[in-house]
Amino acid sequence: MNLESEMQPLDAGRVYVLAGPSGVGKGTVVKELKRLHPDLQVAISATTRHCRPGEEDGVDYHFVTAEQFDEILSQDGFLEWAEVHGLNRYGTLRSDVAARLAQTDGPVLLEIDLAGARQIKKSCPGAKFVFLSPPSMEELCARLFGRGTETEAERERRMQTAQVEMAARDEFDYVVVNNTVEQAARELASVLGIG
Ligand code: 5GP
Repeated sequence: MNLESEMQPLDAGRVYVLAGPSGVGKGTVVKELKRLHPDLQVAISATTRHCRPGEEDGVDYHFVTAEQFDEILSQDGFLEWAEVHGLNRYGTLRSDVAARLAQTDGPVLLEIDLAGARQIKKSCPGAKFVFLSPPSMEELCARLFGRGTETEAERERRMQTAQVEMAARDEFDYVVVNNTVEQAARELASVLGIG
């Protein structure tokens, strides 16, 4: 991982942040968007979580140790970072975004959580923010509770989190409703100016 070009000012007008409530399907929509537009630059975050089967270091994430994450943090190498679900840390590498902006005249997409999106507002003024919304709260709950294995307390906690996360949509420049993966990916492409 190359951490150079850290402190260069970024051309934030081409930085697009996609966020939304947990379980809305951001990853799936971005995957479809990449399939439709293979040249689209999507930032690769660093994370302390373990690599899952089928994932590849440097492709899905830069998988790093807690010590490496701290080191990047101490060098101001993140545009934002967050502890997601109170478990693992994830961060957008300043150097990765800078390199992608240099590689293209087009947009660079960041797929991150809501806490991270709020930090980008400060670290990257001029960036644009897209909220991926479920068609309804009912639909989001159906996705969150798909397996039906949660306790009542866990369901209650996730519902409350979902309500708070949904309220964040007012902070965003664009809202794309995830009715179907294909439609959401096409709408996102149009927001990014590549559709
Ligand atoms: P997963 O571990 O399933 O790949 O991702 C879990 C969550 O972390 C997702 O909501 C994803 O959007 C978020 N995430 C991935 N990369 C980053 C990042 O660089 N920064 C922040 N704040 N969240 C991230």
